[in-house]
Amino acid sequence: MNLIFLGPPGAGKGTQSEGICRDYGTIQLSTGDILRENRKTGTELGQKAESYMIDGELVPDEIIIDMIKQEMRKPELAAGYLLDGFPRTVPQAKAFDALLSQLGQKLDCVLVLNVPNQELVARLTSRRTCRSCGKTYHLMFKPPLAEGICDLDGGELYQRKDDVEETVINRLSVYENQTKPLIDYYQKQGLAKVIDGVGKLDEVYARLKAVLD
Ligand code: AMP
Repeated sequence: MNLIFLGPPGAGKGTQSEGICRDYGTIQLSTGDILRENRKTGTELGQKAESYMIDGELVPDEIIIDMIKQEMRKPELAAGYLLDGFPRTVPQAKAFDALLSQLGQKLDCVLVLNVPNQELVARLTSRRTCRSCGKTYHLMFKPPLAEGICDLDGGELYQRKDDVEETVINRLSVYENQTKPLIDYYQKQGLAKVIDGVGKLDEVYARLKAVLD
């Protein structure tokens, strides 16, 4: 299955992706994770993306489109993939459609996770991320077993610079203006499925599963 996961930052795309990839054998491709990894290792791509990411702005389309073209060449994606955080603008979606037809692939579904803004601010400002493996926790909804330490690999948990309140508010308005039009774009292709993202993790997952099954 080839899937796109759309939704505002903090809607739970990263967390719910884990279950989808486990149950449906898809490979998660998160453009945010790839960019963060590039920043950590100091690549040219990471350096180009840094200032946009710190401010909660989108990295320019041409940089992201080049990056996704490289990523889509990976043979392991033949089993199916789940794109998390891409596309984020209409030009990215159009470029991706062109790439899909070049590769002879098609999308099966675009999952849209809906969560009201008020809840997103609370979720994002309480989010903590593992410095070594990138796993995310929430201080209220999904705390780690030991404070400040990743359950998986003992890595240090930190607050992403773009998860501070001022930047979160900017990221939400970027989503509203630049990414939300994609719901309409994929609705016209008959691919968008809107899912209520409010509730316990397993309740939301059950809704996603019902759509995918
Ligand atoms: P995320 O982890 O998906 O919230 O992404 C973190 C940041 O990476 C975003 O705020 C953007 O600065 C950048 N980013 C990730 N994916 C994209 C994309 N598809 N287009 C532009 N910028 C992106």
